[in-house]
Amino acid sequence: MAYRCPDCGYSLMAWLVKLEQFECPDCKQRLTSNSRRQFRRAIYFSCFCWLLFLSAMRYYTGSWGYAAVVSIEAGGILAVMCGALFYRLTLCVTEVE
Ligand SMILES: [Zn+2]
Repeated sequence: MAYRCPDCGYSLMAWLVKLEQFECPDCKQRLTSNSRRQFRRAIYFSCFCWLLFLSAMRYYTGSWGYAAVVSIEAGGILAVMCGALFYRLTLCVTEVE
């Protein structure tokens, strides 16, 4: 997924979008991104997904011990993937005025 400059449409590098304020390499427009806030929200979203997975496994297996083992292994990976997807889909670049 590529990020584009809202002014000229130039393709922005992912490392550049991680900065809160930066300049478009092509048109020199000052830009800002919501990366820091969305990263924090992605962590909260990951924790929520993990708790949801844990409670679903508890409901499915009927045992807290087995649900914890499955959640630590598979639920951790799934929660991190959900958080990364949330971050990528909600990150946006806007112009500074
Ligand atoms: Zn630009």
